Amino acid sequence: MPDHDSATRSENLRTGVSLWTRTPNSTVAAERTLPRQRFDVIVVGAGISGALVAEALTRDGKSVLIVDRRPPVRGSTPASTAMILHEIDVPLVRLRRKIGDAKANAAWRRSARSVDHLIALTERLGIDCGMERKPALYLAGDEMGVRALKAEAAARAEIGIDAAYLDRAALGERFDLDRPAAILSSMSASANPAQLAAGLLKAALARKARLVSPVDISDMAELPGGVALATRDGAVLTAEHVVFSTGYEFLPQMESAAHSVVSTWALASKPLRRLPAWLKETLVWEASDPYLYFRADAAGRIIVGGEDEASEDSNSDPDKIGKKAKAIAGKFKALTGFDLGKPAYAWGAPFGITRDGLPIIDRVPGHERVFAIMGFGGNGITFSTIAAEIVSAAIAGRRDPDADLFAYR
Ligand SMILES: Cc1cc2nc3c(=O)[nH]c(=O)nc-3n(C[C@H](O)[C@H](O)[C@H](O)COP(=O)(O)OP(=O)(O)OC[C@H]3O[C@@H](n4cnc5c(N)ncnc54)[C@H](O)[C@@H]3O)c2cc1C
Repeated sequence: MPDHDSATRSENLRTGVSLWTRTPNSTVAAERTLPRQRFDVIVVGAGISGALVAEALTRDGKSVLIVDRRPPVRGSTPASTAMILHEIDVPLVRLRRKIGDAKANAAWRRSARSVDHLIALTERLGIDCGMERKPALYLAGDEMGVRALKAEAAARAEIGIDAAYLDRAALGERFDLDRPAAILSSMSASANPAQLAAGLLKAALARKARLVSPVDISDMAELPGGVALATRDGAVLTAEHVVFSTGYEFLPQMESAAHSVVSTWALASKPLRRLPAWLKETLVWEASDPYLYFRADAAGRIIVGGEDEASEDSNSDPDKIGKKAKAIAGKFKALTGFDLGKPAYAWGAPFGITRDGLPIIDRVPGHERVFAIMGFGGNGITFSTIAAEIVSAAIAGRRDPDADLFAYR
């Protein structure tokens, strides 16, 4: 919903308790006073998107001021189940129908490459966030059955994306799941999203970045050669460029029929013993609407989400969390046979979706020097990685060949 005292919308970004806020090193210390110096770039939002952008910009030698109205990494990033999928919510065959073969192929390839880039970046920076390469298993569901999954696997393989079609027998044998078919691919990962974002922020701070919180950006104006931002407290900040990486609290100027905010829920179990190896190692989701998705963490917790509702704010109803967690655990048990017991953590959150499953990464309409990153979708973290690459290239005067795929629409 709009917040008339702020430049961006205001959302209740998490209700209930997500496990990541309870893990060590899931945030970073911020300064409380705004520095007087002028920066090359101001990054608004200190979640995973802002952290990736700040890291990329400081790698390019830019000086960066990161501001957030919440403490760092306390927006929607810790609500994430952090399946770092290369698979886009809209299957390749369907995306080809929506935007044409060439663009759909390019988007799917870019998504797969970006997962690799993020894993390599995490390793290079030595970020301790449990980043692990994992296969992804996409199960047949009410949206796609045997024929559609076969065609999807073939389309992906045709453009060099690892995708093996599994029939019911092969799926049952390798994963002990009873569904008519699935696609297995090797190119995804998982991590602790809060530790990942905090680690990236630390890397940026070790270069030429400063981080100040709480700072609420209430207005902006583009001037010749720069951008001025006003804060709710009456300060004025200037920089050559500004990047709004404000997640689901996007600028009203970015409102569009192409995207919407819905409600979603997730839970994390207690650490479970005797999980089969496939359940520990695989990211699982399904071709259904809404879809159930799950993965394990290193401690043996199952992290599982779903039960989306087409409402912007039903996620902030605390009474719904228990019911939704029960429904999610029930679906998980029906599929896998495992009883998760009483959840250790359960939470609700807003979740952004786009019609074509692609993020919006672009200049804010009417602005040359102001960018907005909306890494919406079930692979928001992968999309934020792409966004950091595209925006840092644009600010450095380089052209990213895929930039048009994610333009404001
Ligand atoms: C339940 C759930 C499960 C998910 N699972 C996955 C998954 O498995 N894999 C995946 O890749 N993605 C997943 N996502 C999506 C992923 O979590 C999001 O893409 C990601 O959190 C977005 O990060 P962000 O940095 O863009 O936004 P945020 O983390 O919300 O950061 C934006 C920040 O901007 C700040 N801000 C906003 N407006 C202003 C302003 N005017 N002034 C100052 N600061 C401001 C906010 O305070 C906030 O801290 C999931 C999301 C949910 C809710």
